[in-house]
Amino acid sequence: MIYLDYQATTPVAPEVAGAMQPWIEDKFANPHSPSTWGREAAAAIEVARAQVERAIGLSGGSVAFTGSATEALNWALKGTVEKAPKGRNRIIALATEHAAVLDTCEWLAGQGFDLTVLPVAADGLLDLGDLELELDERVSLVAAMLVNNEIGVIQPIADIARAAHSCGALMLCDAVQGLGRVDIPEGPDLVAVSAHKIHGPKGIGALWMRAGAEPAPLIHGGGQERGLRSGTLSPALCVGFGAAARLASERRDADQAHVAQLWNAATAALGGRWSINGSVGERYRGNLNIRREGLDAARLLADLRDIAMSLGSACASGSGRPSHVLRALSLSDRAARSSIRIGFGRYTTEAELVDAVTRIDAMARAQENLAA
Ligand code: PLP
Repeated sequence: MIYLDYQATTPVAPEVAGAMQPWIEDKFANPHSPSTWGREAAAAIEVARAQVERAIGLSGGSVAFTGSATEALNWALKGTVEKAPKGRNRIIALATEHAAVLDTCEWLAGQGFDLTVLPVAADGLLDLGDLELELDERVSLVAAMLVNNEIGVIQPIADIARAAHSCGALMLCDAVQGLGRVDIPEGPDLVAVSAHKIHGPKGIGALWMRAGAEPAPLIHGGGQERGLRSGTLSPALCVGFGAAARLASERRDADQAHVAQLWNAATAALGGRWSINGSVGERYRGNLNIRREGLDAARLLADLRDIAMSLGSACASGSGRPSHVLRALSLSDRAARSSIRIGFGRYTTEAELVDAVTRIDAMARAQENLAA
């Protein structure tokens, strides 16, 4: 199999698996218990926390571990509006946010909060003027993703944060796809990240919080994570996340150069009839979301089952609905259904990527010949 679905998840790095192993096999103590073993586990978690904070790279805040980025985003949204001063009952989110943000915002709208979903331009980028027009003293939170999971475009997070702060609102950044790949700009008050997108384990995420901007807890119980997120932490998962974050920091330049080389090779191997969805300039280049007029992308994926990739028109829970992100670019349903997402990174070789892209192109041409 050729794995080209790096935005869905990434392979666990061998160094991460090695770091986790003792905490799975032998070291089972509860990190919140006062025994020697418990204290050893708690110390390992603190090392991991520092590694994740270093990879995030922002000053003036700290991280709490969560069960996923989805949990971190739910917590950030629900906990911030819960704590917001009276009268600040508006939330603003971009139309291209992940379902973890948009569905939570919709839920909050059902609870009586006022939700504004901002459109993006055809290249997937926010026009800051559109945000500025919406901002007023009733806004409590503005949510914007750093690197889009479907189309890879990079939003102007520092400018968005500055605009949010100008009206006294907080800014939440979903940096799940950006961590370890692009700089997270200073500005956001809350940042959600996930281990499994950076070659770490599944089942652990984190919320970075600027000191003073901590949301009200979503999960109540034993008072772990400074009383902000109860539940016994998993030393194995925390250590794995920490190891993945340390590797991402150390390998940042090498990973970036490798991805740039892969992008050049993949785009050169594609035939001429493909277009790239989303901005090419403001983009993380490990994401190649492409469309071809008339292509039946679902059929192409079915015909190339040994290549793991995604539909650009990722269907919402199998409902057959085209991607909300591609629709936000003003693509027709038909164009969205003619799109595929190819994601690559640290462990992708140029030879396998070029092989896959060449076969994708040939299969698309075969579809056209059949239709002709
Ligand atoms: N945000 C983005 C941009 C993502 O790509 C994902 C994962 O698909 C998430 C949030 C959710 O992350 P998790 O799998 O940790 O819940």
